Amino acid sequence: MVTPVKCLVWDLDNTLWDGTLLEDDQVDLVDGVLETITTLDQRGILQSISSKNDADLAMARLIELGIADYFVLPKIGWGPKSESVREIAEELRFAPEAVAFVDDRPQERAEVEFNLPGVRCYSDAQVPSLVTLPEFTPTTITTDSRRRRQMYQAGFQRDAERAAFRGPDQDFLRSLEVRLTIGRATEAELGRVEELTVRTTQMNTTGVFYAEETLLAMVADPAHEVLTVTVSDRFGPYGAVGVVVLDRHPEVWHIKLLATSCRVVSLGVGGQILSWLVNEAERAGVHLLADFRPTERNRIMEVTYRFAGFTDDSCECVTPVPAPDTGSNRLHLVPAPQTLSEVITLTAVDLRTPESLDRAS
Ligand SMILES: [Mg+2]
Ligand SMILES: [Zn+2]
Repeated sequence: MVTPVKCLVWDLDNTLWDGTLLEDDQVDLVDGVLETITTLDQRGILQSISSKNDADLAMARLIELGIADYFVLPKIGWGPKSESVREIAEELRFAPEAVAFVDDRPQERAEVEFNLPGVRCYSDAQVPSLVTLPEFTPTTITTDSRRRRQMYQAGFQRDAERAAFRGPDQDFLRSLEVRLTIGRATEAELGRVEELTVRTTQMNTTGVFYAEETLLAMVADPAHEVLTVTVSDRFGPYGAVGVVVLDRHPEVWHIKLLATSCRVVSLGVGGQILSWLVNEAERAGVHLLADFRPTERNRIMEVTYRFAGFTDDSCECVTPVPAPDTGSNRLHLVPAPQTLSEVITLTAVDLRTPESLDRAS
């Protein structure tokens, strides 16, 4: 399988627009370039700029052309292009293999190829066909793909503000106005849920991969709950950041998976989801049973369960629950009311309402 491109870095003169900006300040976009940009953006592929140009003039022209917002972390100046492409990759935390570069000048492509092996380079002549190449064609496009650029831009603003913030972390957290939403997964979200079960290594209680078909069957089964967690704050969305897979029995709710993205660790989202689940179980009058399968990286999730009061104690409630897979531990809790964080606004589904009624309403 071809490695997908996660960010395409554009040259400007004679690649994105016709001509050289310093010779003609009214340069226009090359035919078809706008369609390429908007198509890649819709697919969740980020785009940036590496151009040898006057930065103010070039940004002004991009704004006049109405396309400046499509680019994250543009690098416009006189240094080597391999340096600016490297900076873009590092700031996005992407490997060079996830980055592509397009430039009309063979010398520039050769310089990037030599100094940044792994970055795929394309000529201006290839621009019209980029969207047909497999590396620019993701297999699934989720809601989060379509808003990926917006999520990154919100992230840059948030990071800048966090770096400049003077005061306790808790005060910064409060200033973010975090909104946490927990809901039943819709079929359209299952691609993203599947992705979360793969990508969340540290904050994943079992490391078990759930394929989209498996999740689809669970969503259709009233005894199962597949919940998605989304987070946003005053800077914008973080997107879908968590998943809970829950199996209902009359006496006990069995948490088969709890996974959250590491992007929201600093917000304490994992603990909040668990506190909410404990309260829901307490109100429903059931115990909680949680699968935990130690991996090399997920110890923090065991700590989260233990901190919430889960123990190794045995209990009669487990009788109807199928035996765990090899390598899995089961942690048990008799729920007691939990206090939720006051700095996070929570909106959540009522788990005591059967799914069928919830869907009908
Ligand atoms: Mg050029
Ligand atoms: Zn029990």
